[in-house]
Amino acid sequence: MTTETKDAALAPMADLMPKIDSLYRDLHEHPELSLMEQRTAGKAAQWLRDAGYQVTEGIGGTGVVGLLKNGDGPTVLLRGDMDALPVKEETGLPYASTVTAKDHNGQTVPVMHACGHDAHTSCLAGAATLLAQAKQQWHGTLMVVFQPAEELVAGALAMVRDGLYQKVARPDVALGQHIIPFPAGVIAHRSGPTMAASYAMGITIHGKGGHGSAPDATVDPVVIAAYIVTRLQTIVAREISPSERAVVTVGLLQAGIKDNVIPNDARMELNIRSYSDPIQAHILEAIKRIVTAECDAGRAPKPPEFKELYSTIATVNDAATMARVKAAHAAHFGQDRLVEMPQLNGSEDFPYFGASGPGRFDGPDIPYAYWFVGATRHDTWAKAKGDTWEQKVTQVPFNHNSHFAPDREITLKAGVEALTTAALEFLK
Ligand code: ZN
Ligand code: ZN
Repeated sequence: MTTETKDAALAPMADLMPKIDSLYRDLHEHPELSLMEQRTAGKAAQWLRDAGYQVTEGIGGTGVVGLLKNGDGPTVLLRGDMDALPVKEETGLPYASTVTAKDHNGQTVPVMHACGHDAHTSCLAGAATLLAQAKQQWHGTLMVVFQPAEELVAGALAMVRDGLYQKVARPDVALGQHIIPFPAGVIAHRSGPTMAASYAMGITIHGKGGHGSAPDATVDPVVIAAYIVTRLQTIVAREISPSERAVVTVGLLQAGIKDNVIPNDARMELNIRSYSDPIQAHILEAIKRIVTAECDAGRAPKPPEFKELYSTIATVNDAATMARVKAAHAAHFGQDRLVEMPQLNGSEDFPYFGASGPGRFDGPDIPYAYWFVGATRHDTWAKAKGDTWEQKVTQVPFNHNSHFAPDREITLKAGVEALTTAALEFLK
């Protein structure tokens, strides 16, 4: 990518920014839960049509793809996710969400763009327009992907399984980004293992209910569950090497409805994260071993039941692809805006656009690069306690927090420019 190419592509940025900003505020005010992104998808599709893309809707649910063929050259996939979270917004912003919606269990929940996917959608839309307007500057095919249901780590795989690469095009490289609470406008990169594999497990522990005054005539699943929760803490502490990173979280523990009734069952949901397949497999085995043994120890009448709720693979950035992205970003933003990204325990389903295999897509893997864009207001960052970025980042509103409020102007501009310059690096 030459400086002239980049400058020509980014020249309309100032005129486009108000449009991107109003799309962002509109999406922020109208968030939609995973797999329910109809309105957002409609906006994305209309935006792409207006920008001259050939648009395919309804891939993997509400997924939208825009294709722009522009002569011989590589096919570059740019991805942005669209879904919001069941969080009650407390930012106090004038465009804060007051939306509620029925979730998949039929419960009414508040909805908020607490992970910044509204920014991802807006930045991707902006980059799509800039790249379409700069068609004389590059050759190849641009594939703009608006993905549903990232928060369930389901949307990317759903799009791939729905034949994204057969119906639309097979990319040579896939690029994506996520906003994080680093200072607004900073771009963070990492090669190799970057985000964790994640596995959500549902467990049912069977007891025998009865009167709270006669525990001897029952099998109390509450007590069994309590032992399980504490014993599970020994997996990472005692079974995984201290040089490895892994997480076992019990995020849900439910049993009983009244003080004097011992319930029949207890229910748990666990989240498991690591950076390698063998460690992930070890943890899953250890959980089943411990839960089964504790149920035996508590004389449960039936073995426990285990269920996979969802899972995703680790995000492992291709070194050569990431090196090119980083060089393009250094040329545009300057080295002082770039930082090295630490490994994250968070997860993504973006790697399903690159990792081939059964139930995904055929042929070789597609190299991918996934980077991060800082979103925290500079005055908020300055006030955050701590000497290092690792310390400060824990003191500012993080993704999924009800106070998460990106610095709109700087973040959106950086996100659009990061996608555009990275795409131009490959669209020669
Ligand atoms: Zn999220
Ligand atoms: Zn997210």
